This record gives sequence, structure tokens and C-alpha cells, in this order.
Amino acid sequence: MKLLSYWHDTAPAFAGGVQGPVEGHYDVAVIGGGFTGLAAARQLAKAGAKVVVLEAERVGWGASGRNGGHLNNGLAHSYLAAKAELGKERAIALYKALDDSIDTIEALIAEEGIDCNFRRAGKLKLASKPQHFDAIARNFEAVHAEVDPDTALLGADDLKREVGSPFFGAMLSKKSGMMHMGRYVVGLAEAAERHGATIFEKAAVIEHTRLNGRHHLKTARGKVTADEVLVATGAYTPASFGYFRRRIIAVGSFIIATRPLTDAEIAATMPGNRTCVTSMNIGNYFRLSPDNRLIFGGRARFSATSDQRSDAKSGAILKASLAEIFPQLAHVEIDYCWGGLVDMTKDRFPRAGYHDGVWYAMGYSGHGAQLSTHLGMIIADAILDRPDRNPLSGLEWPAVPGHFGKPWFLPLVGMYYKMLDRVR
Ligand SMILES: Cc1cc2nc3c(=O)[nH]c(=O)nc-3n(C[C@H](O)[C@H](O)[C@H](O)COP(=O)(O)OP(=O)(O)OC[C@H]3O[C@@H](n4cnc5c(N)ncnc54)[C@H](O)[C@@H]3O)c2cc1C
Repeated sequence: MKLLSYWHDTAPAFAGGVQGPVEGHYDVAVIGGGFTGLAAARQLAKAGAKVVVLEAERVGWGASGRNGGHLNNGLAHSYLAAKAELGKERAIALYKALDDSIDTIEALIAEEGIDCNFRRAGKLKLASKPQHFDAIARNFEAVHAEVDPDTALLGADDLKREVGSPFFGAMLSKKSGMMHMGRYVVGLAEAAERHGATIFEKAAVIEHTRLNGRHHLKTARGKVTADEVLVATGAYTPASFGYFRRRIIAVGSFIIATRPLTDAEIAATMPGNRTCVTSMNIGNYFRLSPDNRLIFGGRARFSATSDQRSDAKSGAILKASLAEIFPQLAHVEIDYCWGGLVDMTKDRFPRAGYHDGVWYAMGYSGHGAQLSTHLGMIIADAILDRPDRNPLSGLEWPAVPGHFGKPWFLPLVGMYYKMLDRVR
């Protein structure tokens, strides 16, 4: 079993990037080379701005190269919960932003000719308990009537042709998609470069200061100055950006991938070939890879650490969950196991805007594989002084009380969700 991301292992290496010293003055410096930063850089460069991306490791090294591969529409919350918290108008705007995000990615892939197995697969939100199906059905009624007619409610019998496991029904969101995340992120970086962006890998920003209206960004390979800065570091935001660290809770999420399944195994487990998410609080998400592996993820443990030791520990828990959902696959070899950090906010709504002289987009709370490209481009447009399309404009973002970067409270949150899963 390889302890690394399937997406990293099966994508071509990014052949670009500048090898020499980090230097120069730029209109915009983007910190972080994931979907957010690269999509923003491409958009800025396309408009003629002189832009630099500073990435601490490799492009796509963070969550963008480690996720479950789902491009789901719909919110991290149920639509009804979002409506109760944000009001109908903003809940609809946010829901539509996720729809638009998938359209944005589809159009970008076509425009740049990125070969990344994009497919409108449709997403199933699977009811793990009978009472969960009641809640899913209530949410479906509102979604279908008010915001997304491209949805359907499937009963347990309808589900038999979708998933070979006894769930109690599901909501199908037909606009949702899937793609090869590694190929996409490399294609996005190449596109940004083609449009004129400069990308430095292995260039972690270790100091950020402002002098005479200019940003000064220092790395171990040299330094750049810039008129504007976009912080696109997600869950990997360093301590030096304290404002964001107090608002982003970095939570581990973990994934295993089986060996390629046979046609008979697919017919017995994932005949619908869609993205799937279970309804438990400590739930699972799964889909097939382009080469027919089951990519099976979940929180597994409430840990703020993702390294090979932590990932392997979580992988063993995931293997047991996989066997519970698909006993047919209990003895199938696991070829990959990896993990990454998810940039959660307290209310699980993302945030994007401008604070104290820097632009930012982050806090996707597990729904960023699609939204990050879209919000990256929207923030780039804001930097370019184009009309405001930000669906999060003006949404308050209070700090998480008692949180200064290390989420000490995660085990308590884990215990709470475990208890909820037992009783609800
Ligand atoms: C295991 C897992 C499963 C997920 N599954 C899904 C899913 O199926 N669907 C979905 O919608 N979302 C999913 N997500 C979330 C999604 O992947 C993220 O929301 C999205 O990739 C965020 O992109 P980003 O560019 O904002 O951040 P990232 O991709 O994390 O990029 C941030 C980058 O900043 C760099 N960086 C950090 N500090 C510095 C510094 N000081 N200087 C320079 N660079 C720096 C990091 O190296 C990193 O590459 C998942 C996340 C994880 C971890």
C-alpha cells in the first residue's frame, strides 16, 4: 500500500515553475498554489496583470491534490439549515455559486484543453438511517421547489440500481460532477503560466511586511514585492497569518483507494458510478476513480494531523467502514492511503474578501474542490476592480473563541458527533 495521494501518484508532474531566485515586483502576489491561488493567478494573468504564485511545496500539494474528487453542488449544510442561518436570498445565492462553480470548471477545462476525466456524474446523499431519509426528503422538497429542479428523491428500491449497499433512500443532485484532481491542478498551473503568471514552487512565504504601500514577501529563495496580495493557503495557513488562523479550523480527512475493481465488483457495489456521501455526522464519501478503484474517504478520527503515521491509523478505520458498507469488498486490496487538512469555519460557510490590506478566499469546509476555482476567479475580478460577484460579500467572520491555530477542541467535537450518530 502506498501512503500517498492517488491523485498525486497518477498525475503528470508539473513541468513549469521558475527555478532561479525568487525576485521581482508584481501587481499581485498569490500565496498558495492550490485551486484557489492558481485559478486567481490565471484570471489575473489573462487580464494582463503581472502575477506571481508562491507555493511552499508543489502546486496541488495541499487539499487540492488530496481530496475525494467530488465536485458536488449543494451546500455543506442542508439547504434548509443554510436558509435558517443566512436567510433565503443568501442561501440561494450560495447554493447557486456551487452550481456555477461546476460550470466554471467545465468551461475552464474546455478552454484550456485540460485532460482530467471531468464528468457530470450526479451526487447521491445517502440516508444511513430511516429517520435520516425523512430529513433528506424534507430538504429535497425545499431544494427542488426553490433552488435546484435538477434533483430527485430516490427510495430504497430505486437505490438498488445505484449502490450495492442497503441505504434507506437518497437525494440525487444531477449537476454534481467528478474529475481527476491531480490532472486538473497541474493543467490549471500550466494554464496560469501560459497566460503569463510566474510560479515559484518550494517558496514558502516566511515573512510578510508592508512598507510605503507595498507588500514585501520573503521566502528562503529570495523575496518579491507586490501591490496586492491574495492569501490562498486554506487549511495550511501559516501562523504568521494570525487573523485567518483564528478563523480556520484545520481538520484531518482521510482516504483509501482499492485496487481497480472488476466489472462484476463494480456491478455489485457502484453500478450508478456517481459521487456518494453518507448522512452520518462522522460519515463517508466515495466514488470510483478513472481506473475503477473505489476511492473511499471520511473523517475516521478527529485529528488535526495528516502525516503518514496519522493517515495509516485512519486508513485502518476506513478499511473497516468500507467493509461495513460494502462487505463484498472486505478482502479487496487497498493500494493507496492518504490524508489532508480541510479548512473548516465554525459555521461551515466559506469566506472570501479583503481584510487589513490582503485578499483571501478559504474556509470551504470540505466543499472546496469546485468552489475554490470559482471564488479564486471572483476574487481575482475584485482585485481587477471588476463588478462584485462575491456571494459572500459582507458576511461576518468572527474568530473562533479560544482558537489560536491548533484546534485543541477537536477530540471533544469528535465525541459530540459520535454521540449524535448513536442517538439520531
Ligand atoms: C482529504 C480531503 C478530502 C476532500 N474532499 C473533497 C471533495 O471530495 N470535494 C470537495 O469539494 N472538497 C473536498 N475537500 C476540500 C478541497 O480539497 C479544498 O477545499 C480545496 O482544495 C481548497 O483549495 P485551496 O487552493 O484553497 O487550498 P489548498 O489546495 O490546500 O492549497 C493551499 C496551498 O498553500 C500552500 N501554502 C501554505 N502556506 C504557505 C506559505 N507560507 N507560503 C506559500 N504557500 C503556502 C500549501 O502548500 C498549499 O499547497 C477535501 C479536502 C481534503 C483534505
